[in-house]
Amino acid sequence: MKDLIIIGAGPAGMTAAIYGIRAGLDLILIERLSPGGQVVNTYEVENYPGFVDPIRGWDLVSNMEKQARRLGVEIKSGEVVSVRKKSENGAFSVQLEDDGVLEAKSVIAAAGATYRKLDVPGVEEFVGKGISFCATCDGAFFKDRIIAVIGGGNSALEEVHFLTKFAKKIYLIHRRDRLRADKILQDRIFSSGKIEQYMDSVVESISGNGSVEMLSLKNLKTGKTAALDVNGVFILIGFDANIDFLPDAVISEEREVIVDMSMKTPLPGLFAAGDIRSGSKRQIVMAASDGATAAMEANEYIAGLKQ
Ligand code: FAD
Ligand code: NAP
Repeated sequence: MKDLIIIGAGPAGMTAAIYGIRAGLDLILIERLSPGGQVVNTYEVENYPGFVDPIRGWDLVSNMEKQARRLGVEIKSGEVVSVRKKSENGAFSVQLEDDGVLEAKSVIAAAGATYRKLDVPGVEEFVGKGISFCATCDGAFFKDRIIAVIGGGNSALEEVHFLTKFAKKIYLIHRRDRLRADKILQDRIFSSGKIEQYMDSVVESISGNGSVEMLSLKNLKTGKTAALDVNGVFILIGFDANIDFLPDAVISEEREVIVDMSMKTPLPGLFAAGDIRSGSKRQIVMAASDGATAAMEANEYIAGLKQ
């Protein structure tokens, strides 16, 4: 039996592994794709401290992977399909899709989240070339540019507020006639004078020559179409935490993992870190910080079992 199983080799899981192995834990890190998480698809990262110039997302996470491997972390390929706490001995059984069951005294769920994408022509082609899912990450690249934001929830409007500091003009595109976001957030963005709304509207395609140049829209009530010249498109229609393998007892109404400030879930011995957890700000630096906290707490939990 392992001391610790960490699920997901993004920034949260890799940091947890680095802290766990340095604490002397016998651990394994399980990843269903190649290590790196969402950062693999991030062209440049400008807000992770320690790098004077922007670092390519791929370079940042492959350094994390090399650091973990140098310290002796074993990274196993596989998709976790369930985590269960056994009543007999309090250990966790972690079921892999094709590769049997592993057991551990403690588990850290660091499986991240998946940003919801729009299923329209151009999205796959222009991700990282003008299409972004994170204003905090990429907003600064759009200084004095014209951008479109798709979405009408609280996350979208909080991000739009951030974008008003940079963009010259923002088209806000929402599929219904009313924004879902709280009134206070609506008031805040419209006071900027930079917002032009397209309600009852859906994106039909995003196009350009090498990078985003145009957005085609359709009004669902009138059937009218419009073409907007834009330099960037932010798709901010929510995200889904990757929680399917976890017990219901640790999942919140918002479909995220419930944690306290120590990254403890309601199930003793099970911790969560990064984008998967409730209240996450969904940033690399915070995922790394959560991973460190979770590993230190898991170490204390395991030490407590031995007494
Ligand atoms: P993730 O990075 O999502 O990693 C989770 C890992 O778990 C993945 O590798 C996944 O394959 C694996 N996994 C999932 N389910 C399973 C399973 N069942 N079994 C095994 N493995 C599993 N943040 C910034 O701070 N700065 C930026 O510039 C920035 N740019 C971004 C750009 C884009 C396009 C996106 C999408 C996000 C960006 N972010 C940025 C946000 C940042 O990437 C995330 O906050 C961060 O990656 C979260 O780390 P994590 O380890 O919690 O999860
Ligand atoms: P959300 O509340 O689910 O909003 C998602 C938005 O995207 C909605 O406006 C939705 O439209 C739109 N959308 C979804 N799928 C779409 C599609 N395929 N095409 C076009 N538009 C689409 O998600 P969220 O904003 O990420 O918030 C998640 C939770 O966190 C919410 O409970 C929210 O209140 C909370 N939160 C709170 C704060 C805060 O209080 N400050 C900040 C951020 C988040 P419809 O409206 O038509 O469904």
